[in-house]
Amino acid sequence: MKTPFQLNKDNYHSSEANNYYMSVSQFKSAIECEASVIAELEGNYERSSSLALTVGSYTHSAFESDQVFDEFVEANRGIIFNTRGGKYADFKQADSMIKAIKNDRFAMFALEGDKEVIFTGELFGVLWKIKVDAINHGRKTFTDLKTTQSLSKRYWSDKYSKYVSFVEAFDYVLQMAIYREIIYQNTGAYYAPYIVAVTKETPPNKAILHFDQSRFEFELEYVKEYLPGIIAAKLGKQEPKRCEVCEYCRATKQLNNTFEIEFLLK
Ligand SMILES: [Zn+2]
Repeated sequence: MKTPFQLNKDNYHSSEANNYYMSVSQFKSAIECEASVIAELEGNYERSSSLALTVGSYTHSAFESDQVFDEFVEANRGIIFNTRGGKYADFKQADSMIKAIKNDRFAMFALEGDKEVIFTGELFGVLWKIKVDAINHGRKTFTDLKTTQSLSKRYWSDKYSKYVSFVEAFDYVLQMAIYREIIYQNTGAYYAPYIVAVTKETPPNKAILHFDQSRFEFELEYVKEYLPGIIAAKLGKQEPKRCEVCEYCRATKQLNNTFEIEFLLK
């Protein structure tokens, strides 16, 4: 019998963990491009780590604990500080976003609870791993911190066939729907999800968002529909679909056809 993979803080993002478990971010990446996800799992491709990702981790660590934040800053000094000892613009902006939340009592109330908690569960026939920013067992709530450009920016969504907010555009409703199910499997109760959103504007705007429960069914149906293809590709039973536009696909593209100029624009 295969022993279950013991997840912890250090191996949560490892390729071993990603091979063993499905996650919301893996699912989202695979919807965009299966080929790049499979190549990554096989160790044939490394997603270039973006500055935005580091700034995101920096911001999150500030709400985990002072110790975690200090350790993060220490480990990433070269990325955070310029040669004159000041912080680069992105981290100065992150500082102002952190301050905007920390100075708001209701936002801090929403973030109260255990931080960065890992859960696993089984959904649609596969094992999932999730990491919750803040979970409060007393209130039966969980809260995710999200940074965004603007609270009211509109994004075109092929998935919803309409203009949507950043919450739908970045599949945060899908994330909350999956987290809700996995937390239910671990606690026996459906916890209410919240998002504490803070914007990159100067000064930052902020909001605490809740969800109408009717939104979750659609997201679970969506996952149920697209997951089997992704799993088949992951198990090597099906050729992974290439998006032909991402970094991985561009780097490995071999042309074998022409197309009419009409198809240049998406
Ligand atoms: Zn691709």
